[in-house]
Amino acid sequence: STFGGKSYIPAVPISFADIGGQETAIRELKEALEFLLRSKQVRAMGIRPLKGILLSGPPGTGKTLMARAAATYTDAVFLAASGSEFIEMYAGVGAQRVRELFNRARELARRQQKKRAIIFIDELEVLGGKRGSHTSHLEYDQTLNQLLVEMDGLKEDQDVQILVIGATNRADLLDPALLRPGRFDRQVRVDLPDREGRLAILKLHTANKPLGPKTDLEAIARETFGFSGAHLESVANEAAILALREKAPVIEQRHLLEAVDKVMLGEKLGRKPTP
Ligand code: ATP
Repeated sequence: STFGGKSYIPAVPISFADIGGQETAIRELKEALEFLLRSKQVRAMGIRPLKGILLSGPPGTGKTLMARAAATYTDAVFLAASGSEFIEMYAGVGAQRVRELFNRARELARRQQKKRAIIFIDELEVLGGKRGSHTSHLEYDQTLNQLLVEMDGLKEDQDVQILVIGATNRADLLDPALLRPGRFDRQVRVDLPDREGRLAILKLHTANKPLGPKTDLEAIARETFGFSGAHLESVANEAAILALREKAPVIEQRHLLEAVDKVMLGEKLGRKPTP
């Protein structure tokens, strides 16, 4: 393929069990995916096929994880791209990349003998912002138009069924054409985790780490209001680094608390937490 962007195929499969909290979002997503899994019945009922799902919510809440889990759940190949990689100086390049992305997904599914492909487009608002709203509008508009053309061309009876999952934290910026029936007509909110969600995420990200017998993850979950899953992953990681630095054999509560402060401070200074 001549794809010039940075789209990627992750090596490790992710399942819904790898996602902490987000029960509502996962349930809604699974419900939508049933349409893909039961495409024969859906077609027999004359129901319009599902072509696009939009995941919207703040950064680091697990939208990418959910899209990957959706691919595992539906036994589909998974291809990820980011809206920003379609924006190029030269007219037509972005549109060409969209075309190539869809072709690449089809090829990949055929090669792996899968019936389905999921194309994940992160930062959808960059590619799919309201038309005519950019200074150099022509290139953006062509790229968005190409995405609409590709999605409109998706048919149930093709040998490879393609589902597009878009993610954005600015759904308000999307061109309304993207949200019309037959495009991203399913929307799933992925919000910041509540206390129980935070606990579940902390458990997942400390499962492979030695925790001292006196650690209290529930207390950490209470202390971390407003943290995303990505922040909590950082807390677990930073705590392990602090313990290692002290040559402590296990992670203690104070390491976790210090890590919370560190991640919070990093946020205030406008830095992203260390990956
Ligand atoms: P962005 O909008 O910035 O792309 P996103 O919503 O797609 O963010 P992810 O890329 O899925 O977020 O999450 C980033 C990392 O944060 C994950 O790889 C994982 O380590 C952690 N994470 C986020 N949410 C969760 C969650 N619900 N459960 C477990 N881990 C999570």
